[in-house]
Amino acid sequence: VSAWANVPAGPPDPILGVTEKFKADQSPKKINLGVGAYRDGKGKPYVLPSVLKAEEILYKKMLDKEYLPITGLSDFTKAAAKLAYGENSKPLDENRLAITQSISGTGALRIGTAFLARFYPGAKAIYLPTPTWGNHIPIAKDSGLEVKQYKVKRYFDKETVGLDFEGMKADIKAAPEGSIILLHACAHNPTGIDPTEEQWKELSVLMKEKKHFSFFDMASPRFCAYQGFASGDIVKDAFAVRYFVEQGHQILLCQSFAKNLGLYGERVGAISFVCADKEEKARVDSQLKIIIRPLYSNPPIHGARLVHTILDTPELYKEWLVEVKGMADRIISMREKLYNKLVELKTPGEWGHIKSQIGMFSFTGLKPEQVDKLAEKSSIYLTRDGRISMAALNESNVEYFAESVSKAVK
Ligand code: PLP
Repeated sequence: VSAWANVPAGPPDPILGVTEKFKADQSPKKINLGVGAYRDGKGKPYVLPSVLKAEEILYKKMLDKEYLPITGLSDFTKAAAKLAYGENSKPLDENRLAITQSISGTGALRIGTAFLARFYPGAKAIYLPTPTWGNHIPIAKDSGLEVKQYKVKRYFDKETVGLDFEGMKADIKAAPEGSIILLHACAHNPTGIDPTEEQWKELSVLMKEKKHFSFFDMASPRFCAYQGFASGDIVKDAFAVRYFVEQGHQILLCQSFAKNLGLYGERVGAISFVCADKEEKARVDSQLKIIIRPLYSNPPIHGARLVHTILDTPELYKEWLVEVKGMADRIISMREKLYNKLVELKTPGEWGHIKSQIGMFSFTGLKPEQVDKLAEKSSIYLTRDGRISMAALNESNVEYFAESVSKAVK
């Protein structure tokens, strides 16, 4: 008998399963709205020009490929911390931020949850928003944390595609004192709905009253352009994180450079812990090494070098901000086109949320049966929760998508 004769077949990954069905479809009109990766106006993957320039700079340096230290490239982690926490952040100035490079956002979450499972002084449970990025649940469980949930959104009933702030606060209040609460720092995945700055301030007060621990996942950027300089967006993305730190929360922060720099497959990320002082930081650092060493010894080098080169070369940094704004503007123009077309076709329902949500994803409110109908009748693929990647829409498919949605809901 084979050693694996008793291995049961597991269910397919809900997001990657969408791509498999898409690939098998032969229709020339097919669209894959499941993937969480930016696509350009022609539907193609996009390598940022600033990344290509950084590649050239690195190539000319003819650097070696020696192992990095366990916690990664320190030039990279310094730049990553500055980007998230800001230039004048106290934990950075006072040398009390423990930070390590990670295998993108997923790896950051995995290290963070493992650290909490080992050292968090309170209950070893984590409260995740409902809904949340699907992988949060198995990551936390595999690290040994119990998974609990809090509401961020009412179930779709046309009028309430927004944040359920009262429900969210009630659930956070009801959690036992000193609970670990996971918060999406910006561009909540999958809903694209964030608390406002005022609401974040309220949450900060509430989290303090309850002595809760704030675990921030900052892996998905807003991709949302405001009037004025693109650099403003970076600050907006970081608002919640910086505000919580200013208010004295001892946060834990997961960062990813997959989406904002288009470095998906390079797997560049970081995880950081705000500590009380330098001495505590040194102890946390030592334990991070003990967690990481048996997992993968040390992280990959190339992506971290790319990110460091871009963040610390002023011309490239400026160029990158413009490119982020370019991605943001394209996504926003698709939101507008989609909304206008749905309204023009007199599609039943209220679609304003398509325009007000931020980031790469949109929660359409489509029901599972309607999602199935889109796949069967129109070769359009998305997850059954009705989430679509706006980045997968472009001039040549947005109208077809709107027409198909219109048919599916009528
Ligand atoms: N966290 C959230 C909320 C995400 O949406 C994602 C990716 O979609 C990740 C983490 C992890 O991404 P990666 O491991 O590619 O950085």
